[in-house]
Amino acid sequence: MRKPKLRELKEAIRAVFRGPYTTKYPFEPHVPPDGFRGRSEFNEDDCIGCKACAEVCPALAIEVEDDTAADPPVRRLTIHHDKCIFCGHCELNCTVETGVHLTKTFDMATFDRSELRNTIEHELVICASCGAVVGTRKHLLWLAEKLGAKAYANPTLIITADGSMELAEPFADDVVEPLARNELMRVLCTDCRRTVVVRELWGE
Ligand code: SF4
Ligand code: SF4
Repeated sequence: MRKPKLRELKEAIRAVFRGPYTTKYPFEPHVPPDGFRGRSEFNEDDCIGCKACAEVCPALAIEVEDDTAADPPVRRLTIHHDKCIFCGHCELNCTVETGVHLTKTFDMATFDRSELRNTIEHELVICASCGAVVGTRKHLLWLAEKLGAKAYANPTLIITADGSMELAEPFADDVVEPLARNELMRVLCTDCRRTVVVRELWGE
């Protein structure tokens, strides 16, 4: 029984000389320590719009909206800070590692929830046949660069990459149905590409 009492006394004496552990915030600015998990924000330069962060977010705080009616079609990713639980999974699992990060900002008190948003937009690449979303242009370019010469196994990647270097003319929109072998050299989603290959092999 005596030992804990002595320990508490030692702590009390030490605290007198060290001063309080608490800070004087909000009367003085508070600087959070390194590794502090505050408001999460996208990095416009690095994010490729792959939406992996939204898929791992346990609080469903990252909204993904694919606006295919826009010209050009866009993917909008929005972090809702009022739903975020500051777990850091988005940063930890980001495909490019630096697309989103948790800042040291912690003071987000507001009466207007619309202020608690961080949105980023990416141009979408659409399947020339069915109109399905293939991915963001930046994601496809990132993949093509990662794959190097192997990207030439996938026409969608070649066309997107070569198109960005202005080496290839964009294809006309007039896709003939049913899809035939000559349509393989277009930007197609995986379902449409599979349909063409299967039809080539086994017919209708
Ligand atoms: S910190 Fe966690 S809860 Fe907040 S956006 Fe990232 S994954 Fe979602
Ligand atoms: S690059 Fe990172 S931050 Fe951007 S959408 Fe993908 S996982 Fe999220």
